[in-house]
Amino acid sequence: MSDEVKKDCILIVDDEKGLRIGTQRLLEDEGYEVETADCGEEGIRLGKSKEFDIAVIDLRMPDIDGLEVLKEIKNTFPNTICFIATAYASYETAIQSTRLGAFSYIPKPFTPEELIYQVELGIKQRKLILEALKLKQEREEQLLELASEKSRLNTIIKAISDGVLVINKNIELVYFNYAALRFLNIQDVKIGQSVVEKLPPEISEIIDKIIAKEKILLKTYTTQIEILPNNELIIEAACTPVPNPDGSLAGVVIILSNITQFKKIEQIKSQFVSMVAHELKTPLAAVQGFINIILNDSLGVDREKQKEYLSRSTVRLKSLTDLVNDLLDISRMELKTKQREIEDVDITEALKSTLQFLEFEIKKKEILIDTHIEENLPTIKADVSEITRLFTNLISNAIKYNKESGSIYIIAHQENNYVCIKIRDTGIGMKPEEKDRLFSEFYRAKNEKTRGISGTGLGLSIVKKIVESYYGKIEVESVFGYGTTFTIHLPINQN
Ligand code: ATP
Ligand code: MG
Repeated sequence: MSDEVKKDCILIVDDEKGLRIGTQRLLEDEGYEVETADCGEEGIRLGKSKEFDIAVIDLRMPDIDGLEVLKEIKNTFPNTICFIATAYASYETAIQSTRLGAFSYIPKPFTPEELIYQVELGIKQRKLILEALKLKQEREEQLLELASEKSRLNTIIKAISDGVLVINKNIELVYFNYAALRFLNIQDVKIGQSVVEKLPPEISEIIDKIIAKEKILLKTYTTQIEILPNNELIIEAACTPVPNPDGSLAGVVIILSNITQFKKIEQIKSQFVSMVAHELKTPLAAVQGFINIILNDSLGVDREKQKEYLSRSTVRLKSLTDLVNDLLDISRMELKTKQREIEDVDITEALKSTLQFLEFEIKKKEILIDTHIEENLPTIKADVSEITRLFTNLISNAIKYNKESGSIYIIAHQENNYVCIKIRDTGIGMKPEEKDRLFSEFYRAKNEKTRGISGTGLGLSIVKKIVESYYGKIEVESVFGYGTTFTIHLPINQN
């Protein structure tokens, strides 16, 4: 780019040669760039060929009138400052030329000073006009930017999963996104429409409270709303008043968040706590009772009886220890802090030792055990305590949820790269909806057949965690009232 300052450019349109050349010289000496036209036609051609800063146009020329030249130039370049130079200024021509956009008159004859003074005035005016134009353009660009910023924000708000609803103090809709309509189950609303009838009472109450306040409190009021029954959809509505610049209430912004999952977790947590408390309480109370009997001399319990109470206490305490161990196991598995001893595990051995371990329960309920284990079943790489844990949970369920003198079938064989183990019982079975939730922590089916059978609901969730940690899979089939089959696949080679 050249450092040279661009010269202001002037067009002289005059048929009088002497004046034309004299004016050109004078203005060039003043530092202007000057072009000349010796008739109206040439004046129009030049004046339209580029944008001059200033045009000095003679009023009377033989071919075309100066006013016509002025009109043509202004048509193309409205910001060129035009002077009409004339010795015959009349009131009408003055009016007409002003109407056509002339900046001023230069009466003829004029002195060099008069001309230069007028031209300088014209240049100043031109600069003002250009400056104003630039500002206008900048403002328009900013407005455009603002508009695109607004639409960007709009797109973001429309896309977020939280609901956004803005109302004015007449409870008319000012803004919303579709998530909000979905959460509140509102259809067919338009901006500007009243939503008094459509808002849930919990939100209406808060809005009434906000509107009733004399002075706006800039705080957020929250409420939780059960939108769909059975905790299917719970939302939290956070309502914040929006003030006008003068401090009065403009409206309320309502943000709606889906908190169903949090609520479910909260519920599971408190269910778990009460379940654990209950499970701890019963054996503790029993042990406490036995000890009280033994300590009470006046009851005179003999040595034999004392021994019996102590051994019953031991059984109760063992169940407590089991529960605590279950809980610890789950938390270790979840935190992945459990130490493992991986070795070749013989599935046949693991099943046999599990059955031995559960012998007492099996005999007590007179359960028939029928095993079909393929010979030379390949070993799997695993921690033997986890595999026996898995079988213990499944077989103890098959005993616990079996009928008296029922049967348990245990089948194990190789299936491609997997060892497949089936544990089938002839017990109470499960309803389809119970089956779906089986592996959730703390889930226990509650029906007429499970009443009176105790447990924590942790067994199968531990089973599932173990199976998945060895990249295996577990499936269940069940018919309510007839029995249940659990099928496990454990990979032989985990690579
Ligand atoms: P825990 O095993 O921790 O003592 P639990 O047996 O109740 O307690 P899970 O083993 O996780 O817990 O079983 C969850 C629920 O699934 C049980 O309460 C029962 O309703 C159902 N269930 C599990 N196994 C069977 C089965 N073989 N037959 C019928 N229902 C079963
Ligand atoms: Mg169980």
